[in-house]
Amino acid sequence: KIVIVGGGPGGLQAAATGASLGHRVTLLEKEDRLGGRLRLAAAPPHKEKIDWVIDDLIAGLPPSVDLRTGTRATVAGIAALRPDAVILATGATPARLDVPGAELPHVVTADALLRDRIDVAERPVVVIGAGLVGCETALHCASSGARRVTILEALAKAAGDCEPITRGDLLTRLKERRVEIYTGVRVREITTSAVEFEAAGRLETLPAELVVTAVGAEADHRLEQGLQGRGLPVYVIGDARKPRGIYEAINEGWLAAMKLSEEGGRWNG
Ligand SMILES: Cc1cc2nc3c(=O)[nH]c(=O)nc-3n(C[C@H](O)[C@H](O)[C@H](O)COP(=O)(O)OP(=O)(O)OC[C@H]3O[C@@H](n4cnc5c(N)ncnc54)[C@H](O)[C@@H]3O)c2cc1C
Repeated sequence: KIVIVGGGPGGLQAAATGASLGHRVTLLEKEDRLGGRLRLAAAPPHKEKIDWVIDDLIAGLPPSVDLRTGTRATVAGIAALRPDAVILATGATPARLDVPGAELPHVVTADALLRDRIDVAERPVVVIGAGLVGCETALHCASSGARRVTILEALAKAAGDCEPITRGDLLTRLKERRVEIYTGVRVREITTSAVEFEAAGRLETLPAELVVTAVGAEADHRLEQGLQGRGLPVYVIGDARKPRGIYEAINEGWLAAMKLSEEGGRWNG
């Protein structure tokens, strides 16, 4: 009997593979909808087809899977199901930006902006972080009527976490939408109306009615530690193991279910 926590791509693949191998699978997802962070990945312009991946993974779930959405897994709740093994596919959440003003109400994460469809029309927007998530969120803002969109990045290169073809495509689209990108800068402070940053030793200020942070993601390891403390075999996959991408989550979901099957549920990662 396998309990899988998280209904993003990793958990969905693990559930489909586990059930098709004859295991009794229970899948716990805290939200009412399946898809995880992949729902956000599908939100920016030109990413609509990511929805196909979600639809395909959901369609691939055999009816034998005991699917429990709207159910937040806890150590006690999982232990009560008496599983032979647990697969944690709980993903990652946005990292916090540690600068003065980051707690102001007009400062939101890219995840929150995309999830809550925050209105950006006619507002000057500053996005902090020019990785894939920051760049795509900036493109979303620029395509949704924001007055001016600027990205601030600490590293020397924007979209440095993308493979070259995606990177070139993304930077071209940002240029077409007149999104300005400053690299090699250090954000000093966010005020109620601006972002102050240091570039080449000079202090600069950009007006901002909305500040969007996209400074990476972090996994929470408390469930893993709690389950291990109870002696349960646990395997952590996808972004919960290390924030990366869709391929890694799906691949590790498949691999974990196969591996547990090979070792009769005794494998502990
Ligand atoms: C804007 C954006 C664009 C992206 N674009 C791409 C891209 O183009 N290509 C790419 O490869 N990747 C992209 N990604 C990253 C990709 O979405 C993630 O790497 C992927 O979704 C990780 O899958 P996962 O299954 O590990 O976790 P998630 O998709 O994060 O799923 C985890 C699930 O676990 C659930 N959960 C958490 N805790 C509990 C609990 N205690 N109980 C029950 N359920 C719980 C969550 O609600 C969630 O549904 C993008 C991400 C964002 C935000």
